Amino acid sequence: MLTGKSALITGSTSGIGRGVAIALASLGCKVMINGFGDQGDIDALLGELRAASGTDAIHHGADMTKPDEIGDMVQTCIDQLGGVDILVNNAGIQFVSPVDEFPVEKWDQIIAINLTSSFHTIRLVLPHMKQNKWGRIVNIASAHSLVASPFKSAYVAAKHGIAGLTKTVALEAAQHGITVNAVSPGYVLTPLVQAQIPDTAAARGITEEQVVNDVMLAAQPTKQFVEIDDVAQNVVHLCSDAAKGITGANLSIDGGWTAQ
Ligand code: NAD
Repeated sequence: MLTGKSALITGSTSGIGRGVAIALASLGCKVMINGFGDQGDIDALLGELRAASGTDAIHHGADMTKPDEIGDMVQTCIDQLGGVDILVNNAGIQFVSPVDEFPVEKWDQIIAINLTSSFHTIRLVLPHMKQNKWGRIVNIASAHSLVASPFKSAYVAAKHGIAGLTKTVALEAAQHGITVNAVSPGYVLTPLVQAQIPDTAAARGITEEQVVNDVMLAAQPTKQFVEIDDVAQNVVHLCSDAAKGITGANLSIDGGWTAQ
């Protein structure tokens, strides 16, 4: 179904983006991954992607705060993988602080990576998708695109922005065979989140189980983490022909968090 399509996934050397890259490669997509990391780990992931897809996989190290590098990444994907049929805007970071103490440079960095980079990738890939009369754009938002938590002003603002960008571009692209959707995970046990559990347990003097249930999953009625592959398979569905009528949607994958 997606065999031979080219997919660009930002922030895909780790966590959710990595899972999405593997899921798309498993369906025969040529994949460009992006993000930071150890070169050996990146090469190993590329090997895994090539084995899964039976076709090419490449990495571009563009920094999502730098429009020129984003431009080079998109052009390289077009030149080396023959286009960008599927774009998954996933790169994101977090920083927690009261708004009146929020470091200005951290605010700018979060807005640049979590929101503005998607404007750049979208504006650059859309002409190619229009030419092909087919495209799939999936923005990895968050439960925080729908609700807020204190001390996460930049992240919540960026994710609400992504929800608005998703709807706007969906309307603009609707008659070109291009769908534009967001998925909004709750807590996902990515390596980043996983590493926080023992530290938080030590800092609060509670067990790791209490950290998971009473701190991390307090807002998530299932009391279970969302799994990386749950997110990845929903992205795959949004890329399928069966989902051609879904555009401008924001799909919650949050164990019931935002139903409350
Ligand atoms: P992660 O830290 O595991 O992965 C983030 C990826 O982004 C890495 O590949 C990293 O190298 C890359 N990255 C960071 N800064 C970058 C930059 N300036 N330029 C290019 N790449 C950069 O994080 P994750 O948990 O997998 O999160 C991925 C996305 O999912 C983010 O947008 C995040 O907001 C969203 N999300 C995560 C959760 C969660 O609980 N983990 C929940 C909801 C939404």
